[in-house]
Amino acid sequence: MLQKRRTKIIATLGPATDKPGMLEKIFRAGVDVVRLNFSHGKTADHENRVKMVRECSAKLGREIGIMADLQGPKIRVARFKENKIILTPGATFILDASMDSDAGTVEAVGIDYKELPQDVQANDTLLLDDGRVVFKVEYVDGSQIHCRVIVGGELSNNKGINRLGGGLSAKALTDKDKADLKTAVALQADYIAISFPRTAADMEEAKQLIKDAGGTAGVVAKIERAEAVASETLDEIIKASAAVMVARGDLGVEIGDAALPSIQKKIIHRCRSLDKAVITATQMMETMIHNAIPTRAEVFDVANAVLDGTDAVMLSAETASGDHPDVVVEAMARICLGAERDRSTQISKHRVECQFERADEAVAMATMYTANHLDIAAIIALTETGSTPLWMSRIRSGIPIYGLSEHVPTQRKMTMYRGVYPLAFDVTRLEVTEIYNAAIDEVTKHGFIKRGDWVIVTHGDHLGKIGGTNTMKILQVQ
Ligand code: PGA
Ligand code: MN
Repeated sequence: MLQKRRTKIIATLGPATDKPGMLEKIFRAGVDVVRLNFSHGKTADHENRVKMVRECSAKLGREIGIMADLQGPKIRVARFKENKIILTPGATFILDASMDSDAGTVEAVGIDYKELPQDVQANDTLLLDDGRVVFKVEYVDGSQIHCRVIVGGELSNNKGINRLGGGLSAKALTDKDKADLKTAVALQADYIAISFPRTAADMEEAKQLIKDAGGTAGVVAKIERAEAVASETLDEIIKASAAVMVARGDLGVEIGDAALPSIQKKIIHRCRSLDKAVITATQMMETMIHNAIPTRAEVFDVANAVLDGTDAVMLSAETASGDHPDVVVEAMARICLGAERDRSTQISKHRVECQFERADEAVAMATMYTANHLDIAAIIALTETGSTPLWMSRIRSGIPIYGLSEHVPTQRKMTMYRGVYPLAFDVTRLEVTEIYNAAIDEVTKHGFIKRGDWVIVTHGDHLGKIGGTNTMKILQVQ
């Protein structure tokens, strides 16, 4: 049987994927989850895209997850009279919280985050436009931050500002984020990503807001502040989240690019240990915004994220505004598959020294141990919430895990998990004795297993009850 790709692909939607027929092309090329970027576009754009995603996924008969990514307190310069300026190294420049938003000149510009002058002090380094322009703060005078240009060049409207070392006090959820969160819940997003969380408390606040709005979305913590990567804080943020994103764009600006590779490995490792999903994001296939093939460096970057154990790799501008989103997704899928042929992705130490806390978790672990040591073609997990397949997928393996659930939100959540393939399956009309054949038939029907294959089926005694998985059965497909 053909090797199935285990690493999931997230594609950001935008003008390039709005073009007629493009959504279907990128879905066919391998997209598992789409990202709605609330930093750009109006509510109506996101509504239209969700509608198109649901239609297209129904047409293809495959669930696609939706992740709504909130803008967060991204600190930005306001706008320039002439839209952009050129800064010369050594010149002085003022960031002015009380200046009119459209009045920027070569000497000064407004800022939308009005507290910035209170958050910075003399000798701070400010990085603008992802670090392309660098300022040193000389002194702060009321609403004005007086800077010296260290690295000059072009600076245009609404470019981001980060402080080297982090430490800006802005809260993770702005008023705009709270409104967008409600929109995301109304659109039945499966995941809601929170930008710039500082601590687990920011994630708890987001979860409460989702609950209040009547949503079931999982929260994704974007790790993009220096203070969020401190070991204890990081673990607390991961535990408070459904998934975590290694947001390499902003994070790299705050902690320095050289610190990124090691932090990426640490975040991925901690997420897997704590039973959470993890996404690797930003500039993975950057040159393919225009080019038809990736650079060797990009091939290695995607492959290395796969080898690190990421659940998903994400595309940003490559699909949202690039020349050929479908070509990029095809290339990314190919690279993931290639990396997954490496034996190291399939062998596991199986948490041998771990103590399990729950019966369902223990069954999930026993299943993976058995599957990896026997000639098993597929794992079939009957699941209510997706927890059993999530536990299973934390263990390295080359064996596909089919997550069978009658709940559409559960099927969509599982689109993010490495090596897990959601299938619609209604257990409520079946007796326990009938489920084995019915579940095996369902997976066979899709052509994923055939007569003579050995499979493992897991389930609980009370079909349809949450947290009840207590059985694993090894069976041959008849
Ligand atoms: P962004 O987040 O694309 O919303 O900025 C990802 C990152 O910072 O890497
Ligand atoms: Mn970011």
